[in-house]
Amino acid sequence: MKTIKDTNFKGKRVLVRVDFNVPFDKQGNISDDTRIMEAMPTINKLISDGARVILMAHLGRPKKGGFEPELTLKPVAEYLSKIIKQDVVFTQSLLGDEVTKLANALQDGQVMLLENIRFYPEETKGNEDFAKQLSLLGDAYVNDAFGAAHREHASTATLAKFFPNDKYFGLLMENEVKNLNKLMNNYEKPFTAVIGGSKISSKIGILESLIDIADNLVIGGGMRYTFYKALGHNVGNSLCEDDKIDTAKALMQKAKDKGVKLYLPEDSIVADDFSENANTKYVPTMDIPDGWEGMDIGEKSIKTYCDVVLSSKTILWNGPMGVFEMKKFANGTFAIAKAVADATQKGAFSAIGGGDSVSAIKESGYADKVSYISTGGGAMLEFLEGKVLPGIKAIEE
Ligand code: ADP
Ligand code: MG
Repeated sequence: MKTIKDTNFKGKRVLVRVDFNVPFDKQGNISDDTRIMEAMPTINKLISDGARVILMAHLGRPKKGGFEPELTLKPVAEYLSKIIKQDVVFTQSLLGDEVTKLANALQDGQVMLLENIRFYPEETKGNEDFAKQLSLLGDAYVNDAFGAAHREHASTATLAKFFPNDKYFGLLMENEVKNLNKLMNNYEKPFTAVIGGSKISSKIGILESLIDIADNLVIGGGMRYTFYKALGHNVGNSLCEDDKIDTAKALMQKAKDKGVKLYLPEDSIVADDFSENANTKYVPTMDIPDGWEGMDIGEKSIKTYCDVVLSSKTILWNGPMGVFEMKKFANGTFAIAKAVADATQKGAFSAIGGGDSVSAIKESGYADKVSYISTGGGAMLEFLEGKVLPGIKAIEE
């Protein structure tokens, strides 16, 4: 694996693709700087080498083709300037004489950020001419944007072609790729996958692929009701995808054929409305009464699930067990978070991914007690589905 760790970039102009796709509040301030902070190890390493760092990033989904004031990366450049305690050079355009001049005028250890790369429609098309123009700005290419690694875009994949001997994984990417490879190709058994979240339709790929390697498949969240219905149970008003009942049946059959233990919650916490103020009750079976909907797994399920997690050597968790955003329905999710942390303490390797699951583990207070938290929602899911990520392939080939 070619990573920036083993090379010194002094005096080199290094083009670095980062994931700065951060959220903003109504006042236009960055409301969560996690993604910026996650890129800092790579940026700091390059600065301390004395490299001339040229950052490329996208923000949101520009549609017009051209500048859109609400999607400018300028506030990110200002934010970054404060973190690295030097003025980050910011360029309005990506191509042309002005940007070439600025890039060539950079001093060792200086940092420049290019404007939202998706203002150029060529970016998302993976356009080769566009990538070639960009490549002229740098002597080396680093990809550290794991969150965009499943995209075959100019700055995430195509650009690598122009640096056959000078393309590298950034430190964040390196960590993701190492951990995901360990999880999928070099794991200790028993392997338990805890899969929840809202919809079975968004998790079919990962369920299909995990059935091939996991010993235990533990199901929670809203998607369990499609399984219940497939088994002939009443699901009341619970989230249920009727057009995925056959899929659920097929998955259960496949698990049986492969000897994978598939766990479904045997009890539920239900509510008469999808709200924090709803009336709630405990239902000790898989049948949800009419007029009620399942919001969290019940205490019997929590006990069973935690026992499975605690007896595992490898654990992957994607998808909350219940509607954890509402405090009343967060017990199942937080109990799993604790069990994953305890299993890790006992020596298991644990991985957590997915936007909402990562929020849940952070809220639970156990985020620093697990082995690895993936920074890429969609990218991680696609990796786990067994797909080749263009951003990884481009550096490896
Ligand atoms: P991730 O982002 O970790 O991949 P998902 O996006 O698949 O997870 O699912 C997260 C969402 O699933 C959460 O917003 C949560 O409220 C919802 N959810 C969990 N359990 C239920 C349920 N029983 N009914 C409806 N929604 C649920
Ligand atoms: Mg989500």
